[in-house]
Amino acid sequence: MSISFSDEVNEEIITTTASLPEDSNEGSLRPRTLSEYIGQKKAKENLAIFINAARMRGESLDHVLLHGPPGLGKTTLAAVIANEMGVNMRITSGPAIEKPGDLVAMLTNLNEGDILFVDEIHRLNRAYEEILYPAMEDYAIDIILGKGPSANSIHLDLPHFTLIGATTRSGQLTAPLRDRFGVSLRLELYTPEELQRIVMRSAGILNVQIVPEGAYEIASRSRGTPRIANRLLRRVRDYAQVMADGTITKEIADRALLNLEVDKLGLDALDRRMLRSIIEFYGGGPVGLDTLAATINEEAVTLEDVYEPYLLQCGFLTRTPRGRCVTQKAYQHLGLEYLGQQQLEL
Ligand code: ADP
Repeated sequence: MSISFSDEVNEEIITTTASLPEDSNEGSLRPRTLSEYIGQKKAKENLAIFINAARMRGESLDHVLLHGPPGLGKTTLAAVIANEMGVNMRITSGPAIEKPGDLVAMLTNLNEGDILFVDEIHRLNRAYEEILYPAMEDYAIDIILGKGPSANSIHLDLPHFTLIGATTRSGQLTAPLRDRFGVSLRLELYTPEELQRIVMRSAGILNVQIVPEGAYEIASRSRGTPRIANRLLRRVRDYAQVMADGTITKEIADRALLNLEVDKLGLDALDRRMLRSIIEFYGGGPVGLDTLAATINEEAVTLEDVYEPYLLQCGFLTRTPRGRCVTQKAYQHLGLEYLGQQQLEL
């Protein structure tokens, strides 16, 4: 069953955590040092120790795996690590590595201590992963030239490099690859207070007039995600310039965000559609993720990676062995009457 909700859904989902073309100037907003990097206290504390220890020993940093939902600052943190270590970083991504030669070329072009950042590492072709095992463990690769009995194997030593892998789904990484990362850090959704600091900092860089309450209003509607906070800041800035005197106050932020259909908690049309579908078609749940995805015409991975983390954090959704359930709190937020647990068995 597939139901179209096109009349309800704003085609442009402004609160998606995925990178949009309008985020292309994100670079200027990226913090460059650990002290500028706001939030993620635990990950930062751990990293500071590893970085200091590696620098004291004059060695390259152990391989690092960063995992967590999109837009939380994995790429940014990798660049901060490179900066703190005083080394260069090369960037690629799992799906961009189309043949083994791509990976070999990247590895052999690294300099001593350099960082190789592989985004979406869970999407790296499994067959090429095997190149990474000896590269990560022994800083060497064996290349087979030719085929059959005349095939030759060449052993190539690599510089001592650091692999930083980023993934939204660490569960999809194979165990041998996961085990080769010495450090594994999980990034968490940010609190509104942390996002408020990020918005104030970004406003300073973008030369936008903003009061702390205005920044808090944007922060609390950004789904715990810096990428969204920065995007909403730019949209609210435009609104403030055209509709007011350019300064972002709480009231201006509220009006601008309502105009963009971002509600008080940052839920957008797709979040509401997901919750409503569970309520209207499955009596509040439980409903399996794939069934739900088919119902609202979305991919199951998008629901799981992009939408669920924030709905779970808000306490609007629960995961049970039998599927997803909508909570009483979500009914209240949507202004719907909650008829109690018996609905779950419908
Ligand atoms: P990811 O790689 O996890 O998808 P990014 O590193 O691209 O996320 O971060 C998205 C944007 O959010 C960046 O432009 C950056 O400016 C901002 N950002 C992320 N984390 C932080 C942070 N801790 N402090 C300030 N800004 C941040």
